[in-house]
Amino acid sequence: MDKIDIKSMTKQELEEYVTACLGEKKFRAGQIYDWLHVRLVDDFSQMTNLSLALREKLDQNCRITSLKIVRKLVSGIDGTVKYLFELPDRRVIESVLMYYHHGPSVCISSQVGCRMGCRFCASTLGGLERQMQVSEMLDEVYAIQKDCGKRISSLVIMGTGEPLDNFDNVVTMIRMLSGKDGLNLSQRNITLSTCGLVPKIYELADLDLSITLALSLHAPNDEKRRQLMPIANTYSIDQILQACRYYIEKTGRRVTFEYSLVQGENDSLEDARELAGRLAGLNCHINLIPVNPIEERNYRQSERAAVERFKNVLEKCGRNVTIRREMGRDIQAACGQLRKRYLKGDR
Ligand code: SAH
Repeated sequence: MDKIDIKSMTKQELEEYVTACLGEKKFRAGQIYDWLHVRLVDDFSQMTNLSLALREKLDQNCRITSLKIVRKLVSGIDGTVKYLFELPDRRVIESVLMYYHHGPSVCISSQVGCRMGCRFCASTLGGLERQMQVSEMLDEVYAIQKDCGKRISSLVIMGTGEPLDNFDNVVTMIRMLSGKDGLNLSQRNITLSTCGLVPKIYELADLDLSITLALSLHAPNDEKRRQLMPIANTYSIDQILQACRYYIEKTGRRVTFEYSLVQGENDSLEDARELAGRLAGLNCHINLIPVNPIEERNYRQSERAAVERFKNVLEKCGRNVTIRREMGRDIQAACGQLRKRYLKGDR
């Protein structure tokens, strides 16, 4: 029989398990939860305030997942760290640690691979391998916090995978990570990035979380968006913007639109004007990202001057814009490239 993945259990689930299945008092669940999600131990033998008998019983029935660091690259430019982790079934994922002035921030993967098929993205080339478990996503943060020895102060769910395509696990992970009895990471410091699964945006809005929604738009109209993102065949930009309006109304949070600039595809001044028009009246922020070229496609990064011009047009139209700082350029810190190279045989 497969052992239970105890780290994926919410506090309430753990209480039910400990009382109903193990015949223990409810407060034991609180102790175990604290060991797993605050003290971050990965062995029952370390849970020294539990009786030896209970530790053995737990060990017989449950497993504590943990990630193995298979590769770790540190940027010589800005200290960004890229981790390649091995999951219990030997699949690999990547996560990134970035040092911002407001503290260490972690970017995590939410799926092993991805099925969204965005043309410029390395993470989607091999398709979706499997969903990630709650414990495995928590472990990305836990492993990095233990490795760097500093308290992680913000989280972006912007690594490999489409988080809204692993909805329940991602939401549970957010609740556990931001819970008072866990690492207590403020939801205001958590950003979830999506390519725009419209029905799931409504579902997320109704959960009353206070996380930031980032929407990967990348084009000012549906025709151009379809060239870059297959998901644009399913949902129109109008539908996306309507869902975003709903999200803003429900949560009171400003939405971020991500726009990767690809030379000759979506970076003209006309594109900028059209984009500004479409986002008029929306409480939002636009994040421009010079596309990171991947070797499997011949997309090229817009010239710096073109990026600046694009930004100026948006600003003249009154939009709030920033150009994303590129972190860890020397260590393939972007979007699934390290994992891709590793899987290609560069073990
Ligand atoms: N699936 C989610 C989150 C993962 S991708 C989403 O689509 O938002 C995180 C962000 O990186 C997205 O905005 C995505 O479009 C962008 N991205 C992916 N590959 C990129 C590349 N090669 N260059 C620049 N941005 C890229």
